[in-house]
Amino acid sequence: MTAAIAVIGNGVAGVSAAQTLRLEGFDGRLFLIGEEEHEPYDRTALSKAVLAGETAEPPPLMTSEQLEALDVESITGRTVVGVDSAAGTLRFADGGTLASDRLLLVTGARARVPRVPGVALSGVHTLRTSGDVKALRQAWRPGAHVVIVGGGLIGCEVATTARKVGLEVTLLEAGSELLTRVLGRQVGAWCRQRLEGLGVEVRLNTAVAEFVGRDYVSAVMTSDGNRFDVDSVLVCVGAEPNTVLAQSLGLKCDRGIVVDAAGSTDHPTIFAAGDAASWPLRSGGRRSLETYLNSQKQASAVVAAMLDRSIPAPQVPLSWTEVAGHHLQMIGDIEGPGEFVARGRIDDGPGSVFRLLGGEVVAAVAIDSPRDFAVVTRLVESRAVVSAHALGDGSSHLRDLLKGRSSPRA
Ligand code: NAD
Repeated sequence: MTAAIAVIGNGVAGVSAAQTLRLEGFDGRLFLIGEEEHEPYDRTALSKAVLAGETAEPPPLMTSEQLEALDVESITGRTVVGVDSAAGTLRFADGGTLASDRLLLVTGARARVPRVPGVALSGVHTLRTSGDVKALRQAWRPGAHVVIVGGGLIGCEVATTARKVGLEVTLLEAGSELLTRVLGRQVGAWCRQRLEGLGVEVRLNTAVAEFVGRDYVSAVMTSDGNRFDVDSVLVCVGAEPNTVLAQSLGLKCDRGIVVDAAGSTDHPTIFAAGDAASWPLRSGGRRSLETYLNSQKQASAVVAAMLDRSIPAPQVPLSWTEVAGHHLQMIGDIEGPGEFVARGRIDDGPGSVFRLLGGEVVAAVAIDSPRDFAVVTRLVESRAVVSAHALGDGSSHLRDLLKGRSSPRA
């Protein structure tokens, strides 16, 4: 019998797992442990409303009252540094210990830091926590110049926010287009044009050579020999799964804690989910998904496994973003082989881009089309077989494509 479960990490995967454990009837002691001082909060607001100063704090994922009502013992501001899995105890950095029979590692990810001279200077920020946002925001005042290194999700969301509060923004991207990892080249270019329309200076194919300054960063030197004087810098060049604890336990890690499609590790009482886990994909292969919605889905699956009711859930990447005032939703991996089909008005939105492989819908990105996205999701999740012509024909109903027929929109 499992008397106590410790969930190590109180981000969305950890909080969702704790809630689901109670919903599924687990009635033993349940610890939810986070190393930040805060009660669990929603990180998705950090780069948007919190950074814009529209709200002082990110919304809670669960309030203290909600945690208490579920009898979840929330431990904040403490870091787990060791586990004796044979004895069933956790050890904290402050020397304290805790007894637990089963462990869920939802230790998340941290910002990748490039090895560039000057990266440790004050004024060079990363963005992952509420504390990071407060530090970055201190250097922000209208007219100040921020250089953002990395044109992915954080870079483009923050560029939008920075223009909103009146900063001058230069966005440096090492690749040949923005946002290709999650949105693909076509929609990445679409977003770049919108950001440029807001006044963001975008430099593609541009890496950082050096951050210059005595104590505080004053300039950024780029690989093509340019110099940008700056008031602050944000580095957002990807994330690294936090696997230090898992590695210390001898768990198999490969850019994430290696788990099966139910979240089980190679240790019978240790499980993992969220950004820290390298989870199998429905399309084959595995990786850390690094999205809010996949973390929630993984939490449901891993709870079943922890309660000995394994329900494998290979993942389809699923997320959303807000760039230049537009709402983008994505499912599956849009970059890859196959045929690309645009539906609707891609140039000025709303619209969607689909990837078909062997006649099946395997991925999609929707621009300002939240109402269509529920059906788009089902088309991808069911790998619906559709003709490119019918999919691209805006007069047909998406719902009919799901049912395998197409008819003109009324
Ligand atoms: P990212 O992977 O989205 O983007 C990183 C970008 O940096 C890429 O475009 C890459 O080509 C570029 N890059 C890499 N090295 C570079 C270099 N040396 N110089 C310039 N550019 C370089 O990562 P991120 O934006 O840092 O976000 C971190 C994590 O947070 C990701 O896992 C992301 O999925 C997650 N996140 C998700 C959302 C969302 O789902 N809406 C929002 C914010 C963050």
